Amino acid sequence: MTLPLRIGVDLGGSKIEAVAMRGSAIVARRRVASPRGDYAATIEAIAAIVAAVEGEAGGRGSVGIGIPGAISPATGLVKNANSTWLIGKKLDRDLEARLGRPVRLANDANCFALSEAIDGAAAGMPVVFGVILGTGVGGGIVVHGRVLAGANAIAGEWGHSPLPSWPEDGERPGPSCYCGLSGCIETFLSGPALAADHAARHGGALDAAAIAEAALHDAAADATLRRYENRLARALATVINLLDPDAIVLGGGLSRIERLYANVPLLWDRYAFSDTVATRLLRPRHGDASGVRGAAWLWREEELA
Ligand SMILES: [Zn+2]
Repeated sequence: MTLPLRIGVDLGGSKIEAVAMRGSAIVARRRVASPRGDYAATIEAIAAIVAAVEGEAGGRGSVGIGIPGAISPATGLVKNANSTWLIGKKLDRDLEARLGRPVRLANDANCFALSEAIDGAAAGMPVVFGVILGTGVGGGIVVHGRVLAGANAIAGEWGHSPLPSWPEDGERPGPSCYCGLSGCIETFLSGPALAADHAARHGGALDAAAIAEAALHDAAADATLRRYENRLARALATVINLLDPDAIVLGGGLSRIERLYANVPLLWDRYAFSDTVATRLLRPRHGDASGVRGAAWLWREEELA
């Protein structure tokens, strides 16, 4: 028996990536630049990349798409996308018309969480929180192998909640955020936020990767990472209190900072409302491929059999 073919597309601000999967195996893969600012060209680029991976895989598949944002349940239109040319568009219906089949869309952080929960680092765990720590900060929740989308399609969007802090931390009001508020978790935990925090305290212009590298021998960079780890521990403790996940999987560029996995769980005990914390903090198994893999997993094999 042949496993059903499932196509996953990750629609990013700078690139569109697609895979064709059978089971957990990727059987075809393509990547093209995003037609920035051009909605009609974006629809055509997605149609072309789906046709390309289907041609290579030799079949017609289900299509799931991860987007930087969400379809608003209130309007049916894209919201919360940093790829602003998608905002206000009926992307799901336009793609269904162009591809001639039903299409499932989900937020890219939700796709990441789904990939890691189904056949990734947290495979088989009942409740999984996936975190993207990159240019922005996002999150997704998977419960028993299914994305929890939510009534407003924002479940897991913890990056725009305030960083939990105490008066002595000196973190209020915090940096202003593009969402209109100040002191959002994203303004402390994104890659640019880490770099800005280091520059403000210690000068220089190191990016997040350079700070992580320098921290091996430089006291200032080490201090910056210790502030970052403490903030991440506080922010994740609120997730543990609310969701009590079995695992939290980190993704995005900052997930490559190896010391986070040892240091943050030592710190979050103090902030979580529990005698001990059994939640595991995990490295991603599929790395940058989790976006496309999770998009493909928006269709389950049993639905396609
Ligand atoms: Zn914000």
